[in-house]
Amino acid sequence: MKRRHFISLVGLGAAAACAPGAKSDSNKQEDKKALKTAPVSGHFFPALPYAYNALEPHIDVETMELHYDKHHRGYFKKFSAAIEDTSLETTAMRDVFAEVSKHGLAVRNNGGGYYNHMLFWENMSPEGGEPSARLLSHLVKNFKSFDAFKDAFFKAAKTRFGSGWAWLILTDDRELKIVSTANQDNPLMDVVETKGIPLLTIDVWEHAYYLNYQNKRGNYINAFWNVVNWKVVNKRFEKALKGEWLG
Ligand code: MN
Repeated sequence: MKRRHFISLVGLGAAAACAPGAKSDSNKQEDKKALKTAPVSGHFFPALPYAYNALEPHIDVETMELHYDKHHRGYFKKFSAAIEDTSLETTAMRDVFAEVSKHGLAVRNNGGGYYNHMLFWENMSPEGGEPSARLLSHLVKNFKSFDAFKDAFFKAAKTRFGSGWAWLILTDDRELKIVSTANQDNPLMDVVETKGIPLLTIDVWEHAYYLNYQNKRGNYINAFWNVVNWKVVNKRFEKALKGEWLG
């Protein structure tokens, strides 16, 4: 199940995904058939890869329920509505983001919200793990030490003013960099200052931590390290070295 879900996020399983919402059942069936012939297209609301309480005590069950079932689902619904009956219904997210400045704010904000949360759920797990030898050596090369990398990531997440995300990315010149984006922007979008392939991300909107941590964003970021799914980050890094990324 977990493996299947991961495959679906890298695009291979997208053909079997549900068509965007707000359609009748018969239309949904027709769209499903049509999507079977499209290799990397169609958008779907993904299953959470673990139980709502799986990341306790670091991320509490109530936050997870609201965050996934209300916030993330809301972005997906609004994104689906924004792209209904347009060519974006069958455009891979990476291609949507590559020209997001042309598509208007509803696509930018809700498409980002839809996609960013998929990455976020996937890069957490109760099992933790550690960076691969290759990723670790790149982190040390770019940030001097693993602790220095964590400090820089913490700082980017902590100091993002208002709502947004912090990211570890691999840039086109194969440098690991830490960036933060406002609102639901991400480093694949043509509107951001520093582009790159996302490897690890943390949501620092207040809805991601306020129930448990209130105004103490720093405590939430520190707790996040306990649930980072390094297996997924390692896989993203290996793909990114080949110029590939999710969905
Ligand atoms: Mn969020």
